[in-house]
Amino acid sequence: MQQKISSFADLAEISAWLRERSAKPQHERLVYRAWLRRAAWPEPGAGKLPRTLCAGLPFLREELAALAVSALRREGGDGVSSKMLLRLSDGRTVESVVLPKNAVCVSTQVGCAVGCAFCMTGRGGLTRQLGSAEIVAQVAAAREINPAIRKVDFMGMGEPAHNLRAVMEAVQFLGTYGDFGHKSLMISSSGSRRLFQHLMALPRQAVKPALALSLHSTRDELRSALMPHADKMTVRDLVAAAEAYSRMARTPVQYEWVLLQGVNDGVQEADGLIALLAGRSAMVNVIPVNEVSGLPFKRPPKAACLGFVRRLREAGIVSTIRQSAAQDVLGGCGQLRSRFIEGAAGSAARRALDISA
Ligand code: SF4
Repeated sequence: MQQKISSFADLAEISAWLRERSAKPQHERLVYRAWLRRAAWPEPGAGKLPRTLCAGLPFLREELAALAVSALRREGGDGVSSKMLLRLSDGRTVESVVLPKNAVCVSTQVGCAVGCAFCMTGRGGLTRQLGSAEIVAQVAAAREINPAIRKVDFMGMGEPAHNLRAVMEAVQFLGTYGDFGHKSLMISSSGSRRLFQHLMALPRQAVKPALALSLHSTRDELRSALMPHADKMTVRDLVAAAEAYSRMARTPVQYEWVLLQGVNDGVQEADGLIALLAGRSAMVNVIPVNEVSGLPFKRPPKAACLGFVRRLREAGIVSTIRQSAAQDVLGGCGQLRSRFIEGAAGSAARRALDISA
């Protein structure tokens, strides 16, 4: 069957279509809430809607449904999580993960230019940006599986800071129409000056998302090797900028730390993190790496993971180990997609990391 091309990659295009049909703000709200499964779709001929809008609704529903169509789905062993491969209307694919605690992890780009050495998505580079409607469509698709979804992590494929306009449009939209609180919308980023400038300039009434900063090392040189195309801010500057936003948004920063055996799981790194974060409003999320065939990184043994976190906790740093909920449904970011479309891992990462911990 031929893929339907949706006319609406961006939320602004949907809004323009609605206004061309005389939709008032309350009508737009009704449609958006129906899309996000927070209200029923108006019946054909519903009296309260402008006639032209009512006549166009079946078309609109089809277009929105075509934005992100489930191509593959793997259920997690926990009975709650599931990983979806979603086909966009141009045939490209992205991953979304329905997580425990009524959360979903969405992608912001097809591919990613940051090139993290341990990440399958980073191997293939950036293919294209997602439109804001394509990001929101992943949440709508997740609510088809779990209507109680209440939290969105912008933590899937892509670097949100590299697609800032669309990501922030999606954040504002979900905060306005989707019943998501500010702290339930979390952007995960490697950080950039542009991102921090944008966040700090958000108006008072704007939705202010929570921030997760991907750190992975306290040493600039190692971090650059692990994340070769991340913004060249120093670790200290990144943490200072994140903390400034944290104070403004009144929500702690979450620091992401993908734990790699023999690379960043040692005492030196743990103590570096303690020195960096002591006294700050922060939590550290330690994520033992998902091993990927063809990439040179190993998951540390469980005792080493626990030891790393214990050292942080003993120093008063709030920290947790996040076992990937999707570990048993094809592991980390990009793996389901990769196996679906090509089944091969890149080899450049073997050369990318030539620094011992
Ligand atoms: S881990 Fe995230 S930022 Fe790094 S390459 Fe993968 S998708 Fe991009």
